Amino acid sequence: MEIVDTHSHLYLESFDDDRDEVIRNAINLGVNHFFIPAIDSRYYCRMIELKKSFPKNIYLMAGLHPCYVNEKYKQELKHVEDFLKSDNNFYAIGEIGIDLYRDNKNLDIQEKVFDYQINIAKENNLPIVIHCRDAFDEVYRVLKSNFNNDLNGIFHCFTGTLDQAQKIIDLNFKIGIGGVVTFKNGKIDKFLKEIPIKNIVLETDSPYLSPTPLRGKRNESYNLIYIINKLSEIYGLSTKEICKQTTFNAKQVFKIL
Ligand SMILES: [Zn+2]
Repeated sequence: MEIVDTHSHLYLESFDDDRDEVIRNAINLGVNHFFIPAIDSRYYCRMIELKKSFPKNIYLMAGLHPCYVNEKYKQELKHVEDFLKSDNNFYAIGEIGIDLYRDNKNLDIQEKVFDYQINIAKENNLPIVIHCRDAFDEVYRVLKSNFNNDLNGIFHCFTGTLDQAQKIIDLNFKIGIGGVVTFKNGKIDKFLKEIPIKNIVLETDSPYLSPTPLRGKRNESYNLIYIINKLSEIYGLSTKEICKQTTFNAKQVFKIL
């Protein structure tokens, strides 16, 4: 079985004590592709180290996370572009987007940085991985203004409505499903069946967003098993079929088919 974790921050400090073990446990389950979103330039070295340790399993992204957009954003965007030019392969620009939950006073800069990074993705023919929190309309507006048939990607950690999911799919984006689908109050499990499985990819957002029954604990890719089981229940498909479909979808987005 082949499973893709499309969103994991394995390079963060919370994995410093047992990173190799965490990755090996996931690989034993069948999770053999880990897509690694960037946050900001402080972690680039760690990301490259991780890639060196597991060259066949780790896939890098470059990008500036919206929660780390501040007055130094121009410098950070330059770092993103330099990182892309480095001697590494990149599979997406991410994670990028708008977050009005943490900070709603710098929307104009967040929008500008998001838009700029979408254009980096277009220039490099890469998909984008979107972080959106309390900002669906704002993110959608920027995406729509950049729409073309070559732009695609993943709407990571989707927590919106059926109508919003439909709008994302109409723009050629896949929906990233992780721990939230197992939450009692997560809501998306109620309508997900209406969204064809070909639009869904798996993700953990490790070390964050552990699924039920592990909420509050550190998350890791092995826990995708809980997401796969939940999706199997929702779609009435075998877990094998869920893995096969979502793996195909992820490979399609990241162009590694
Ligand atoms: Zn993330």
